Amino acid sequence: MAQPGSFAALGECTMCARKQDTAFPDYCAHCGGSVVLPPTGPALPDTTDLPGMWRYTGRLPVTPDTAWLSMGEGDSPVVPAAGTADWCGVERLQFKLDHLNPSGSFKDRATAVGMAQAVRQRASAVVCASSGNAAGSTAAYAARAGLPAVVLMPEAVPPGKAAVARAHGAAVLRVRGDYSNTFRAARELAGRFGWINLTTTFVNPVAVAGLKSAGYELAGQLADPPGWIVVPVGAGPLVHGIATAYRELHGSGEVAAVPRILGVQAEGCAPVAEAFARGADEVAPWQHVRTRISAISDPLRGYPSDGTYTLRLVRETGGAMAAVADAEADEAANQLAYREGLLIESGAAAGLAAVRAERERGTIRGDESVVCMLTGHGIKTLSTDVDPGPVITGTDEAVRRLRARTELAEGMAG
Ligand SMILES: *Cc1c(COP(=O)(O)O)cnc(C)c1O
Ligand SMILES: [Zn+2]
Repeated sequence: MAQPGSFAALGECTMCARKQDTAFPDYCAHCGGSVVLPPTGPALPDTTDLPGMWRYTGRLPVTPDTAWLSMGEGDSPVVPAAGTADWCGVERLQFKLDHLNPSGSFKDRATAVGMAQAVRQRASAVVCASSGNAAGSTAAYAARAGLPAVVLMPEAVPPGKAAVARAHGAAVLRVRGDYSNTFRAARELAGRFGWINLTTTFVNPVAVAGLKSAGYELAGQLADPPGWIVVPVGAGPLVHGIATAYRELHGSGEVAAVPRILGVQAEGCAPVAEAFARGADEVAPWQHVRTRISAISDPLRGYPSDGTYTLRLVRETGGAMAAVADAEADEAANQLAYREGLLIESGAAAGLAAVRAERERGTIRGDESVVCMLTGHGIKTLSTDVDPGPVITGTDEAVRRLRARTELAEGMAG
């Protein structure tokens, strides 16, 4: 059993179960498997006077002396769906607004814990491979920690996401090819210079443990465990975080059940969903990425064990994996923006698209309660290459133009 709050915390290989030193994050030295920290034991009391996720100091590998790193990550609200429950055909639909984390994505939960590790180990720098959100998150927390950050991104990264990382002063480099090439470069640089790798695959088990906070929070926010928790999946660390948190709480009798997890990928890069559909136990790396949904586009080339572990976890919850088309994810993002007031990137909206599709297929029943994790803010992927709207010279012209809009016309009679 790992010592809560201790950085000597031993990881455990998800394939061969060998214990692993997590001081220098990487995959299992013996078999290449993904490493995670074992579940923490019977719940320790939460420390209510520490900020954000540091409240869970007893359950996460953080210690109070790094709480100054907090920027208010975690504690994201859960709200009922207003206008999209009908669209999905699910009566009891809720959203966890994890896009409201400090840098605009749930990645902050992992980065905050990983950065605390880097600070405690007096690392000279941190490095991360990222399709976008981990980049901004790493750059922001590195700025706060006073550590240099090296951020590697695939060449086709959305410019807004690179801009965020650069705004915080990170050294940003784009790597030719898809995400897996970027991943390999970060791992090589971390190994060569002893930098802490904050890439949000399973490469850093200490950082990944920070994602359990999403599950602890949900369990506290909901009266009963939901039927389903919907999680967009790249490699799957957030699935691990939520499932592990619920398992710990179930083990100690604090929740009645572990909810089913619906993991969601993009059709053009769906290694885990494809293995689920085949009934396979092992996930194979994805060869040709054909999706624009970069936030969840991880071919797992070089580390398919991440996907194999995620697949196992999803099955163990009685859940399912789904894959959605880019157009479906974009449509769900539009629905969230138009009908809920929530500006969410397509990679995160993919979850809502999957709720609708899996409801139609019968995987989800209409009377089951569903919580969708909204993992990333839409602002970083918003195109600024748009018409900012017509310029008017007076109110008469305004009235004429506004009456042309059916939703306004009736209220503008006379
Ligand atoms: C990284 C990311 C995911 C995928 O999460 P993993 O835990 O890496 O599988 C989902 N949604 C968004 C918006 C992300 O940035
Ligand atoms: Zn191993």
